[in-house]
Amino acid sequence: MKKSQRGQSEQVIRTRLLQAIFEQRMPPGARLTEEALAATFDVSRTTIRQVIARLAQDGILVKLSTGATHVAAPSRREAQQLLVVRRMIEPEIVKILAENAATLSFTELSAHLALEDRARRAGDRGTLVRLTGEFHLQLAQLTGNKVLIRLMTELQALVCLAILLYASGDDACPPDEHRKIVTAIKKKDGSSAAAMMLHHLDHIERDLRLDDKPTVEISEALTWLGQRQRTSAGS
Ligand SMILES: [Zn+2]
Repeated sequence: MKKSQRGQSEQVIRTRLLQAIFEQRMPPGARLTEEALAATFDVSRTTIRQVIARLAQDGILVKLSTGATHVAAPSRREAQQLLVVRRMIEPEIVKILAENAATLSFTELSAHLALEDRARRAGDRGTLVRLTGEFHLQLAQLTGNKVLIRLMTELQALVCLAILLYASGDDACPPDEHRKIVTAIKKKDGSSAAAMMLHHLDHIERDLRLDDKPTVEISEALTWLGQRQRTSAGS
């Protein structure tokens, strides 16, 4: 039996896994096994190994030295670093698109915005987090620059995982901001599109509350130190 006739193709499996991860059916940190995945998709373990290797390359799965595989769970610090890089790259992406707007097709992007609206109306947060992440990747894909696409695949995936872990709001990306960015690109207004993208990324970072954790840890540490102080003073 040919491999292509058995079970599902690598591409299909990859897409299904990404959906499961970003819709939180397999949350950040979840452990995966080759055996279970091979059985689920009715394919060989070799096929699954290739899918896992590719997702690990994109930073979405993490392979440990023990052989175990986990869904990546970026720390707050990592999320902050990822957003620093996205702030460098994404305003440039929308500028490139605005410059080339006359030769680009925005049909897919418009259809995508409609899907985001539908998920938002339905209150389907998992689907919305996945879709809003994919929006940023679609912008990179529209540039046709393979290096940018590769970089953004990893950057957006890991920020999506951080959103699932830390975001406080219901919206993965604030409503309307994507649409405003697309409108500016279509109008060939690169500088407005870039400014909106920066504002948008700031918004995402604020929603991630990346500054919360250290503050809590420090105050906890001070409380603990105070208790120690009192204990030793009393003894
Ligand atoms: Zn967004």
